[in-house]
Amino acid sequence: MTSSVKRSCGDCTLCCKVMAIEALAKPANTWCRHCKPGRGCATYSARPGECEDFACLWLASDLLDERWKPNRSKLVLTTSEDGIEVRCDPGSPNAWRGEPYAGDIRAWAAEGERNDMTVVVIAGQRLILITPDREFDLGIVGPDERIVREVEGTKVVGARVVKDSQISDG
Ligand code: SF4
Ligand code: SF4
Repeated sequence: MTSSVKRSCGDCTLCCKVMAIEALAKPANTWCRHCKPGRGCATYSARPGECEDFACLWLASDLLDERWKPNRSKLVLTTSEDGIEVRCDPGSPNAWRGEPYAGDIRAWAAEGERNDMTVVVIAGQRLILITPDREFDLGIVGPDERIVREVEGTKVVGARVVKDSQISDG
């Protein structure tokens, strides 16, 4: 979507498929009507601010090597206030299970468990919470829902989805 960070998107346009764009009412996992896949944005100078501001983690950080380039890995990485989100190209929902991806994701999950951060894989509408030794398939998680983890010490031993209102109601 942008080309102004350390790297350039080059022939990658995967976020224009995978991410939802509110200003365009574009749902996740469908190509944006302005995207020329593999080539770029047909409305680049007039693209919405959320596109202009977006940089996936591969673009923003040289800690991820070329194998993680989204159009090669089929994975778009972003951060949230809770941790790392790994979104799969809907045409490759199991891309994250290959290597080096699965190994790196497990390592981030181990680091996350120590630091109270989550690592989630989003494949289609399914959200999967990853821990160092387990995965919790939480199904569809709505915008008004949240993941609640059950922990023993720092180890995550369970996870469930609850409505925001259930949390605020106590
Ligand atoms: S997914 Fe990342 S590298 Fe690919 S077009 Fe979007 S910002 Fe650029
Ligand atoms: S407007 Fe351009 S940058 Fe934004 S999602 Fe569509 S094709 Fe991508």
